[in-house]
Amino acid sequence: MKPIYPGAALADGRQPTLGVMGGGQLGRMFVQAAQRMGYFTVVLDADPASPAGQVSQYHIAADYLDEQGLAQLMQRSAAITTEFENVPAPALMTLGAHRPVAPNAECVAIAQDRRAEKARLAELAARSGVGPVPYAVIEKAVDITTVPDDCLPGLLKTATLGYDGKGQIKVNTRAQATIAWKQLGGVPCVLEQLVPLAAECSVIVARGPDDQMVSLPVARNTHVNGILAVSEVFEGNLPAALKDKVQSATQVIAQELGYVGVLCVEFFILQDAAGQLSADSPLAVNEIAPRPHNSGHWSMDGCSISQFDLQVRALCGLPLPTPRQHSASIMLNLLGDVWLGEGDTPKAPNWQAVLALPGTHLHLYGKLEARRGRKMGHLNITADTPEAAREIARQAAAVLGLPWA
Ligand code: AMP
Repeated sequence: MKPIYPGAALADGRQPTLGVMGGGQLGRMFVQAAQRMGYFTVVLDADPASPAGQVSQYHIAADYLDEQGLAQLMQRSAAITTEFENVPAPALMTLGAHRPVAPNAECVAIAQDRRAEKARLAELAARSGVGPVPYAVIEKAVDITTVPDDCLPGLLKTATLGYDGKGQIKVNTRAQATIAWKQLGGVPCVLEQLVPLAAECSVIVARGPDDQMVSLPVARNTHVNGILAVSEVFEGNLPAALKDKVQSATQVIAQELGYVGVLCVEFFILQDAAGQLSADSPLAVNEIAPRPHNSGHWSMDGCSISQFDLQVRALCGLPLPTPRQHSASIMLNLLGDVWLGEGDTPKAPNWQAVLALPGTHLHLYGKLEARRGRKMGHLNITADTPEAAREIARQAAAVLGLPWA
């Protein structure tokens, strides 16, 4: 692929324009990174007020499978990426026949279906060194009767369209699994072993069309109610031996998938024999996200290059320099709850106090309505030392009433 450079007018006088399928916050931050480099952007999203559509030069308000919308996107774009993993793969396939599309439809399709995702990750385990937790596929009620014992107690998860802990039910027995499966609508599911977590982490890798590959330092992630609450990225956040293993597993996965673009791989770190987190803790791969990830937002302020800059570069076939973390970093997610008081009465967060704290960087996504659990923004905290970052994060969390201190 010939690199797509910014700022050079095309033969018809237009600026090189990058397309993005999806208008959420990840699309918004991709658009902002692309525009900083001088690209124009076009967003396809049905919502006329979408976070990415608000800031993009062009916005096509159409559904993902709308033929006219896709034709317009193709016509405007030099290359196209996606920010939302449930963009229908056929739409990406149509676009991919005419323009560079990264990630491609095949990689996105794997991530959209837990059955395909786990099967592929299990197949790659021999090379990556890390496989998924034991699981069974449930297509019909009778499949529950034959699930292996090691999947119980387990989490029953819908095969498609689940995110942030949605579409998941904890079950202890096959009888409970049958009831839960009905509650989930009798759709294809996977039942996976409920593992004793010591911690969770993720790695973001960027791979270009020419096999260049770089990754960000490992983020240690804390979830609350299935939603990411905090990412901590600094020396000593996890045992170094574990970090090496997840870094290398992530690179193998990206390489073996022939992935182009930014990929996030989420890992479970299990308790060791003493029930602790240690260098001996077993690892399992949880899931992959074919796009930048919430756990990589810290890189916008704590690193020489952000995951969105990497997404732009990988899409355009530009150099991918090794990211250099320059600050101990913590990311606090800001859910709609921060704007809601008792009885869901609206309340104004105390930005005055938060922004007075040194090393705080506020990112809000332009969403007009706050709802509980809705991702409205994030607060990055950068400092010279992990201790200083933690102290500021603790103070900011206390001011905002976040579930972390
Ligand atoms: P998911 O949406 O599948 O990534 O799940 C959301 C969160 O639920 C994870 O980040 C974990 O904190 C927890 N979780 C999911 N699957 C398991 C599992 N098999 N064992 C223990 N905890 C899990």
